[in-house]
Formats: sequence, structure tokens, C-alpha cells
Amino acid sequence: MTFETVKQVRVRYVALIGNPNCGKTTLFNALTGLRQKVGNYPGVTVEKKEGRLTFADNSEATLLDLPGTYSLNATSPDEKIATDILLGRADHTQTPDVVVCVVDASSIERNLYLASQILDRQIPVVVALNMIDVAEEAGIEVDVKMLERELGVPVVATIANKGIGINELKESIANAQSRTAQKRPWSMPALVEEECGELVGLLQQYHKLNENSAFDEALTLLTSPEALEEHRDRFAPELLAHVQKDHERLDFMGIDRQSVVVEARYEWIKSVCGKAVTQAQTSALSTSDKLDRVFTHRIWGFVIFVGLMALIFQTIFTWATVPMDLIGEGFDSIGNHIHEVMPAGDLRDLLINGGLAGVAAVVTFLPQILFLFLFLGLLEDTGYMARAAFIMDRLMSKVGLHGKSFIPMLSSFACAIPGIMATRTIESPKDRLVTMLVSPLVSCSARLPVYALLIAAFIPHDHVLGFLSLPALTLLSMYLLGLVMALSMAWLFKKTLLRGAAPLFIMELPPYKLPSLKSVLLQMWERSKLFLKNAGTIILGVSIILWFLATYPRVEGVTPAEQLQHSFVGKAGQLIEPVIKPLGFDWKIGIGIIASLLQREVFVSTMGTIYNIQNSDDESGSLSLQQQMRNDIDPETGLPVWTALTAICVMVYYVLAMQCMSTLAVLKRETNSWKWPLFQLGYMTALAYVVTFVVYRVGLLWGFGV
Ligand code: GDP
Ligand code: MG
Repeated sequence: MTFETVKQVRVRYVALIGNPNCGKTTLFNALTGLRQKVGNYPGVTVEKKEGRLTFADNSEATLLDLPGTYSLNATSPDEKIATDILLGRADHTQTPDVVVCVVDASSIERNLYLASQILDRQIPVVVALNMIDVAEEAGIEVDVKMLERELGVPVVATIANKGIGINELKESIANAQSRTAQKRPWSMPALVEEECGELVGLLQQYHKLNENSAFDEALTLLTSPEALEEHRDRFAPELLAHVQKDHERLDFMGIDRQSVVVEARYEWIKSVCGKAVTQAQTSALSTSDKLDRVFTHRIWGFVIFVGLMALIFQTIFTWATVPMDLIGEGFDSIGNHIHEVMPAGDLRDLLINGGLAGVAAVVTFLPQILFLFLFLGLLEDTGYMARAAFIMDRLMSKVGLHGKSFIPMLSSFACAIPGIMATRTIESPKDRLVTMLVSPLVSCSARLPVYALLIAAFIPHDHVLGFLSLPALTLLSMYLLGLVMALSMAWLFKKTLLRGAAPLFIMELPPYKLPSLKSVLLQMWERSKLFLKNAGTIILGVSIILWFLATYPRVEGVTPAEQLQHSFVGKAGQLIEPVIKPLGFDWKIGIGIIASLLQREVFVSTMGTIYNIQNSDDESGSLSLQQQMRNDIDPETGLPVWTALTAICVMVYYVLAMQCMSTLAVLKRETNSWKWPLFQLGYMTALAYVVTFVVYRVGLLWGFGV
């Protein structure tokens, strides 16, 4: 059928397309000079840039600079515009006669992905191989003639910012030729090709599609997981039944339908580059590339990631103890001073047991929070975080999300609120929602004081695995539990509530650099201000209210412990105890959980206040909070209230429960409804309850309850 009717195109309208930062705008400027017009595409805030292009024979054409895009299936508003115009689906802009596909020679494989999608269309194409200077510096050499032969379209090497290759590019555009049906250069596994071919036939038969669109539709129907549901109304039932069978067959053969096309394209790109690109060995490999060979390695990369986290938590425990002890002593001496100078009475109790105990319990953890932010800042600033996202992408795509979704999760190690804000870069609304729903499962800095208090009090200081201590390992486990749960829930939500395809992952890794100590320190400073302000307002307020509720109504002639039982807090505690008893929690823990619904650190201040009141007139009142918790005996059973298992159960509960009103408020703002925050509150609380229950029961079975 190949009558190769190659004919000259009448070039009136030309579009530049390419990945972000490949040099499109620079080429555009070089090609058009200053004759440009900048406007907006109708209805969206995406910039539309057009200019006049004059050829050697003085004929003219209009040149359009399209928004950057990595692929033709992208869905962010910018990328969608580029795709729509290119495929002739935009009614606001005419379809280009010639497409100039700009390829960044220094990352040619990634850039050829888009090129391969464009070449599938029968549009006249010219490839501008830009940034050849950058490529050369990196030791990458491209054989332009060979590339031309492999791609089947003209290729012009350019250095846009130096004006090199611009006239040749103009000439190629002017001489662009129409492309008739060539054989598609890439191919999928035989079975997929066969089914795709059948589907193309059926689509042409039932729906009178031309070959190009039939192939498009066939690919979508075969590879997109929700194709059957989404296109139910568009296709004949016979056709859909056929697709259903195809899916079953492919699934049975173990072929990953979602990635088969992407892999086939990359297979082809590899073979093209094998012929046309030579990469000078090691000498030209930049330091970043060398580091990335290790840090983004399939196995080592993951080992290093977990190792780094372990090291961080180990350091948080060892280094932070010195300043923490100092802060603890400072608060003690303030307490003693108040004790000496003030007459005994409610006011003194309020100051010491209410205000001071609560605030001290929380502020003691400032050094650990600072260390956490020091390390997060260093990882971010050196460029390692992007690698972490890259490593995690393999896991993320298993749960049906984009590697981009890991960035909000990384931010959530600091706080879920910036995490939720960071989801704004995710194109798919469903994926964005899934990411927002699960990000708060990642352990934020507000949980650190809760973990740190319980670990210091109840986890023995044994060493395991050489340098790693049992406390550090416990802390690492809590952080990993949060991460694993976030991924599992994302997988579940993607399978059920918010179904959708896993998007293609392309991410640029910025070069490594030495961290700027100034910006890291600045961030730590901002954090400590926030933390201290919080301690002076919310924590102080809650502690004072709690003191009143734990002190009144007064009963005469009883011990402080009995008095606490008779107080409002004691009564409320007894009310909720049946609900939390199955988790191994006593009523004081229950009060802690209720009080910290506002925010998680309140648990620690609540323990501080309650235990100080309970022990206020015996010797143990001067003991540390950890000691008081260890000494607490349940009057009914005569057994300790706290065991290592109780501590672990409380931590597990705090890993999973939604104990943060600010996060819910932000989610409400971002989703513009109360539906999702309420759902999040509900599912996280239920998850926390069930998992804690299981951990407690299993722990008891294994004899850890003593
Ligand atoms: P766009 O996002 O595709 O529009 O990319 P830009 O045109 O904004 O270019 C991104 C950056 O690459 C700018 O700083 C340009 O100056 C630079 N640039 C563009 N082309 C070349 C090139 O061929 N060589 C080098 N060294 N830099 C280039
Ligand atoms: Mg640009």
C-alpha cells in the first residue's frame, strides 16, 4: 500500500513542541526576532505566544511556542493545550502544518519519548536537536545523520542561545514534507500487537474511524485500566466485550497492560540511541551522575534511604539528650523556685501542675524537633530528597500513584499541612485527593514528642545491629509504619474510591550541591519559633483548662490520686474507659487522646499535668514524668499501668489516628467540602483503633504485656 507520496507542505502555521526547559522559547526568539504577540488561550491562564517567521525566499509563516510537555497523554492544563493543538482538537487554534519537535540532546532518551509519540502521527515533523553544547560537555555525541535515518524525519542540530543552526532549521521547516503512513517503528509484545491489530479492525468496522484514530483508541482501550468504564457509552457492546476478553487474556499472561506501551517506546528509543548516540565513558560523567548511580540504584538506593533514616533517628536520640536534660533541669528549677516563694494553695498548684508541667513536658522535645528539621533541611538542600522521590517512584507506581505524590509525603515528615499544599503540583484530581488523604499518615514532627516520651520511658536501651539502639529502631519502625500505611491506603483508595491509571513518571533530578547552612538554619529558627509559640498558647491554654478539670470538684480528705479520680477529668476518663480498654489503655491515656484531638503534642502535656496532679503531695512528685509514668500502678489490679506493650500501642495509635484539627481545616479548604476531611477523620481513627487492637492482642499472646 506504500505509494510514497511525499509532497512539499504549504507552511503557514508552525508549532514548537518539547519537554519543559529544552530551549523552546529560546529557539522561538531566535527564529522570530522581536515580532511576537503574547496572549492567553481562551478560558485558561496559559500563555499563548505567537511570532512571525520569515524564510529565505521571503515567504512568511506564524510560529507558535507551545507549553512544555513530557508526553501527549499528560493532563495538566498546560500540557493538555499542547496536546490538543497538536492533534487538531483545539477549536481556538488551528492545527499546525509543521511541528518542530525540540529535543534536548543532553537528555536525549527522555526527550525522545515525546518525539516518538509525535512521530506516530502523520504530521510533518522537523526535529531540532538543541543543547548540543551541553551534551558535548557531558560527553554525549549524537550522529545527526544516523538519528535522521532512524527517526525518518529531518534533524537539525542547534544551540539556540548562540543562534547556531537557526538558518538550517528554518530551511528544514520551509522544506518540510508530508509523511504518509510509515510503518510504526516500535512494537509491543506479539500478543499485544495481535490484539491491538484486531481492535483497530473492529474500530474501523463499527465506528468508521481512520487508521490513526483507530490505533489511538485501540491503545487506550487495551492499556488504560478504567477504559471499559469510561468509554462504555462510546463504543459498541460487541467491541467492549472483545476488549474485556483481551484484558483477561493479557492479565492471564502476566502482561502489565499499563506499562506495555511505555516500555515498548523506551525499547525503541534505546535502540535508536544505541545507533546514533555515543556516551563517552566515566571521564565525562559528572559527579552528580556518579553519585546517582549509587543513590538511585534499584537496591542500594533503597538500602541507603532506610539507612539514612535510621542514622537520623539514632542521632536524634543520642545528640538531643544533652540539651533536653538541660531544658528539663531549667523547668525543674523554675518549679522549685515557685514552690518556695509562693504560699501553698490552688494558685501555686495551677502554676506548677497546670501551666508549667504541661509546657515543660512539650518544650523539652524542642532539641529533637530541631535535629529533625536540621536533617530534613540538609537532605532537601543537597538535592537528596529528589532522589528519595525517584527511588520511591517504583513503590508509588505499584500503588497507582506518580512519583510526584511522594514529595507531599516527604514534606509531611515535617507537617501534613505543607504536605497537603504540595499536592497542588499533581495533575490528576483523583491522584491529588488520594495523596491528600494519605499524607497525614506519615509521621509529622508533632508526633515526635509522643514517640520520644514513650520510647525514653519504656523501651530499654539495648543495642541491636551494632550502632543502632533499640529506642532508635523503635522510632524508625514508627516512621516506617506510617509510610507503609500511607502507601497501602493509597493503593486501596486507588483500587476502590478513586480509580484511575498510574501516570507516567518523568522527573528531573537537580544536580547535587553543598547545602547552604544559612537556609537550613533559617528554617530551623522558623520552626522553633512556631513550636515555642504553640507551647506558649495552645499547650499552655489546654494545660490550664485541664488542670481545672482535673482538680475540681474538690473532695475533702482524700489523696491526690483519689481526688483526680473524682474530678471532671476522672469522671470523663471512666466514661470512655470501656471504649479504649480493648487497646490496653487506661483512662488517663484516654484523656490524653481526647485532649490531643486538637494536636498531637497535647498528649505529652496532658500526661505532664495529670501525673503532676496525681503525685502532687508525695515524694514522687519531684520525679521526672518518665519515672512517674513507670511507677504508676493501677489501684484495681495492682499492676503497672504502663508496660512496653502499652507504650508501643499508644505510639501505633498516634501513627495512624487523625489527631490534628489544622490538617482537617486545610483539607476542607483544598477540597472545598467537609466530606473529605470527615472521611479522613473517620478512616484514620478506625484504622488506628483496629491496628492498635491487633498489635495489643498479638503482643499479649506473645507475652509482651508484662
Ligand atoms: P523552554 O522551557 O523549552 O522554553 O526553555 P527555554 O527556552 O526557556 O530555555 C531554558 C534554558 O536553557 C534557558 O536558560 C536558555 O538560555 C537555555 N538554553 C536554551 N537553548 C540552549 C542551548 O542550546 N545551549 C545552552 N547551553 N543553553 C540553552
Ligand atoms: Mg518556554
